[in-house]
Amino acid sequence: MPVSLYSMIDVAPTLAAIMGVPAPAQSNGEPLAEILNGLDRGRRCALLVPDALGMHPWSLWKDEMPFFTALVEARHVVLRSVMPTITPVNFATMVTGVEQSVHGIGTYNDRIQCETLFDVLGAQGKQGAAYGQEGCTMGQLIYPIAQAGRRVPRHEDDQIVEALLTDATEISPDFIITQLVTTDDVFHRFKPSNPEVVPYVRDTDARLKRLVEGLSELEYAVMILADHGQHDGEERGTHGTDADEDSLVPCTWVN
Ligand SMILES: [Zn+2]
Repeated sequence: MPVSLYSMIDVAPTLAAIMGVPAPAQSNGEPLAEILNGLDRGRRCALLVPDALGMHPWSLWKDEMPFFTALVEARHVVLRSVMPTITPVNFATMVTGVEQSVHGIGTYNDRIQCETLFDVLGAQGKQGAAYGQEGCTMGQLIYPIAQAGRRVPRHEDDQIVEALLTDATEISPDFIITQLVTTDDVFHRFKPSNPEVVPYVRDTDARLKRLVEGLSELEYAVMILADHGQHDGEERGTHGTDADEDSLVPCTWVN
């Protein structure tokens, strides 16, 4: 069966539908039927984002990521990131359902110019929690607009995992979002095709396994997708263009 291609703007309405709340007001995406099929509405929901783990880098190293690859091979759709295919732009799109021209984000220091999923949750008396690092989009752009969560020092994906699972157990936020930064860092540093990245993608796979197993036990619906991909540049890995290597990302889920 061919895999369906959707857009990053469809993520916010999908999350809203899972949680049984309205999509952000300006959102012009559509909920993803494949994900909603068979899922009870009104669920608590977590969005896990391994940064830059697009279809291209994933396909290069899929055998090194047995947990994530088994999920993708069991069920996935492909999303096209919005332009430019950079981190703050696509995280802003995930929580608003709109393109850059509407949310207005260019860097993680900008302010989102339209309604977000956190606004929607707040109006419903619900809680959204963001787990991010200093100097990264989740810590700088998303954490400040969330009702709960944690910001930890840079290069601390493991601390993120611990903080997120502790809160999921103790305060059970209705919505959880996080960014695992290591994959983007090492693809930039070594280029995505360089085998030097292998130990790091294995670490990310182990973190995803821990998160998915912990969250599933707590009855969260879990979505995993990347914000964009990456391709080999001359000196380092790079992204930002509308090429498929930068734009196409896998999106999988666990009900
Ligand atoms: Zn990114």
